[in-house]
Amino acid sequence: MENKSFLELENEFLNANETNYETFLSKLREVLDYDGNQIAPKSPITDFNYEEELSKHILAYEGEESKTVLKDFRTIFDGAIRPHSPYALFNMLPSPLLDTVAANTLTQLYNVNSLMDDFGGRVLLAEQQVSRSLGKLIGWDEATGISCNGGKLTLLYAIKSAIAKQAPRSTKEGVPSNLVVLTNESAHYCVEHVCSILGIGSKQCIRVPAQKDWQMDYDKLKEIVQEQVSKGKKIAAVICCGGTTINFAHDNTDKTHTIVTETLKELGETYLPHFHLDSVIGWLWFNFNSEDDYLSFDVEDSVRYKIEEVIKRQVGMEKFDSFGVDFHKNGLCPYSTSFFITKSKEAFNSLNDGSYSYSDEDYHYGKFRAYRYTIENSRPTMGISSAYVALRRLGISGFQKYLIELQEMSLQFKNAMENYPKLKLINDYSLGWEIVFLIDFQKVIENTTYSESNIAQGFIHYCWNKCNKGELVPLISFVPAYKVHANSAERTAYLLYPINLASKYEIESILNALLDVIAEFEKDLLNGDYIISQKAMEKPIR
Ligand SMILES: *Cc1c(COP(=O)(O)O)cnc(C)c1O
Repeated sequence: MENKSFLELENEFLNANETNYETFLSKLREVLDYDGNQIAPKSPITDFNYEEELSKHILAYEGEESKTVLKDFRTIFDGAIRPHSPYALFNMLPSPLLDTVAANTLTQLYNVNSLMDDFGGRVLLAEQQVSRSLGKLIGWDEATGISCNGGKLTLLYAIKSAIAKQAPRSTKEGVPSNLVVLTNESAHYCVEHVCSILGIGSKQCIRVPAQKDWQMDYDKLKEIVQEQVSKGKKIAAVICCGGTTINFAHDNTDKTHTIVTETLKELGETYLPHFHLDSVIGWLWFNFNSEDDYLSFDVEDSVRYKIEEVIKRQVGMEKFDSFGVDFHKNGLCPYSTSFFITKSKEAFNSLNDGSYSYSDEDYHYGKFRAYRYTIENSRPTMGISSAYVALRRLGISGFQKYLIELQEMSLQFKNAMENYPKLKLINDYSLGWEIVFLIDFQKVIENTTYSESNIAQGFIHYCWNKCNKGELVPLISFVPAYKVHANSAERTAYLLYPINLASKYEIESILNALLDVIAEFEKDLLNGDYIISQKAMEKPIR
C-alpha cells in the first residue's frame, strides 16, 4: 500500500464503495490461494520434531522487515486445513463468509475490547442484538447473551448459571458438594471437564443412557432423577443434546422437561433445575421455528422429514433456560464465534460473584460492564462482529436455505455413493448431514496378515499422508467405534463431512479420487510397499 494515513485507510474501509470492497475481497481470496475447485484440502507439511524446532528458534535482537516476517509467517499455515477446498471433508469446519473476515479485520484495526462499553462502543449492544434475535427465533422476547470462545464455554456459562440458581450463596462461598448435572450419553465429551473446572467435579456429571435413536432413554432419566434425589443430591442442570457432529443426537426438549419436573414434584422437591440445550449445531433449525414457510420449500421428502423431526424436538424450548450457538460450526463464521443465550437478564446477576446487582440503570451507554459476569476480563470482539455480519448478510431465510442445501448436498453424496460398490453408507438414520460409511477391503483382508481394524486405520493414515503432502485427495476422518444406533455393535467407519457448499459440484471427482486412493493403498499393501503400524492409534476426538 502507498503511504496513506490511517484516517484515509479507515475512511476507505468505512465508506467502502463496490470497487474497493471488491479489491479487498479479492486480496483475501489471493491470500487463500483461491484457485477454483482444484485446491487441495491441506497446505503441505513435512513431519517435524517440536523440540528440534524449538531449539532452533531464537528471538533476534533486531527487528525485521514486514516482508521477511510475513513471508515466513505464512509457513505457520503449513499443515492447516483449507476449508475453502471442496475436498476438505474432515469435520464441521466452514469456509467463513468473506464479509465476516472483513468485519473481523476492521474490528482488529479498531482494537476493540468488549470488556465494557466505554472501550467497545456499540459492540456490546451488537452482542445483545445478536443474542436477542437468536432468542426470538424460539419465542424468547427478552433473551440476553454472551459472546464466547467456543461451544465448551457456552456449557460452562450454562452450568455456572445452574450452580448459582441452586446455591445462590455459592457465588461468594463456593460450590456445595451435593450438586449433579445430568446429560445424554452422547453429549459432547467436554461436559465432564466443564463440571470439573467449575468445581462440581466430573464425577457429578451423570450420563443418561440413550435409546436407539440417541435421544435420552426417558425411563432411565426418571430412574436417575429418583436415584439422585434419594441420595440427597440436587439436580443443578439438565443438559440436553441439541444435535451432535455424528448421529445428530437431539433430545426431545418438551419430554425431558416434563419428566424431570414431574418426577421432582412427585418426590416433594420444590426446585427447578436449569435446563440447557446444547444446540451449538441444532440452533440452525431454530430458523424454521418462527414461521411455517419451510413447508413451502421445494425439498426432497427425506430432507423435509429430517428438518421437521428436529423442529418437533425443539418445541419445549419455551420452558428451557438457555442454549448455545456455534457460528464457527454451521454459521459461516471464523473461529471463535459462539454465543451463550439465556431467557432473561437474570444471567448477568447469577454469573457475577454476588457483589453486583444489575438494574435498568446499568443498561445505558457508559455503564454496561460485561467483565463482571464474563470469564475473561479483556475480551475479544471478533465473535460479536462476525456473528452480527453473518446474521445480517443471510437473514433467517438465508440460514434456512443454507441448512436445506447442506442436507441436499449430503443426499447427493449418498445417492452418488450407490454407484460405488466399494463404499457403503451406514448412517441413513442420522438427522444431520454427515456421511458415515464403510470401505470394502475384503481383497486385502484375505491376502494379507493384517486384521480388519488394522487395515481400516492403515487406510486413513495412508490417505492423511497424501493430504499432508498437499495432494488433491479427499480429507476425510474416521470413527473407530461407530454405532449406528445406541444398541448396535461398534465398528470402524469413515466420516465424510460435507460443509462447503462448493463440494456439491465436485461429488464425482471427490468419490473418484477416494476410489483412486483406495486402489493405490490396496496395491501398495499387497506389494508390501506400505507397512501398517501395529501401534494402537489414539482415538480421534468424538
Ligand atoms: C463442538 C461441540 C461442542 C464444543 O464446542 P467448541 O466450539 O469446540 O468449544 C460442544 N457441544 C457440541 C454438541 C459440539 O458439537
